[in-house]
Parts: sequence; structure tokens; C-alpha cells
Amino acid sequence: MPKKLPQRDPSAAYVRKAIAARRVGDRKCACGESRPEALIPGSDPIMCHECWRKQEGKTVMDDHHPAGDANDPTTIPTPVNDHRAELNVAQYDWPKPTLENTDASPLLARAACIRGYLDTNEYLAERLLLPGAEVYELLDELLREKFGEKWWTNTELEKFVPKHSSVRRKVS
Ligand SMILES: [Zn+2]
Repeated sequence: MPKKLPQRDPSAAYVRKAIAARRVGDRKCACGESRPEALIPGSDPIMCHECWRKQEGKTVMDDHHPAGDANDPTTIPTPVNDHRAELNVAQYDWPKPTLENTDASPLLARAACIRGYLDTNEYLAERLLLPGAEVYELLDELLREKFGEKWWTNTELEKFVPKHSSVRRKVS
């Protein structure tokens, strides 16, 4: 994974996380949600924003501003728990002047767009791509157990065998 853009202050990020965790303890919502920023402090039993919204008959989707409201009006619908526990948290690590852009600097607005794009890309990669990789790895293990090593031999999947490994096979 590429490195994240440098944080404004890694120790501030640590302190913020610790404070959020202390506010809710190590409890979790009945749905399993345990990210401190997604839980409602003081709720008893502890409840996450998504479950609370459902109970109230409200939408569980938020309009997230990837570049921050001050920098660009573009929004993307995001589940409230992810909005609070991931995307907003990522923005807290930006330089404060970039996120707040109180003087409406055009350069800081562009900087915010870059940071917001990268954060959103990382969020989508973790949501949409990473679980796929885990499924492939698990399935490979299961097929190996059932059909043995090189379970793909004499199947349509042979054409997807990585080229460098077939070269290596010929050499050895
Ligand atoms: Zn919940």
C-alpha cells in the first residue's frame, strides 16, 4: 500500500483516538459496531449512529464532502458509521488550514481536493478490493486442500498462471 500523506501531527491523532475510545470504553453496539467514533457517547445500552438512525426511521446515509465543505461542494453518500469513524477521522489528520480554509485560498482548496481524493480512494479500496483478495486467498487454500497442489492443472484457469512462474519452472 502506498504511504499516507504525512499527517499534521501523529501524536495528536493518537491522542484524539485515545479520547474517542475513552468516551465509549471498549463496548460495542448490539449490531457489532465497535469503532469509538461510530458509537454514541452516553447511550445506554451503547448504540451506534446507524442503529439509532434506523430506530428513528431516519436515513443511515450521510453526504460526505471528500474535500471538506469549505473547499468543494461535491458530496458522496456514505454510511453514517463509516462517515464518522473513517472518512471524517481521515480529515482530522489533514493540516487544519487546509481543511478549514477560512480565507478561501484557491491553493488550499486544491490541496484539499487531492487529500480528499486519496482518502476516498483508500476507503473504497479497503471496502471494495481488500475483501476480494481475502476471498481469493481463502478459496485457493480450500481448493489446495480438496484437489492438491496446482489444483488448476488441466482447467481453464491454466491460462491465468503467472508468466514469470512458468518461466521459472522451465528453467529449473
Ligand atoms: Zn449498531
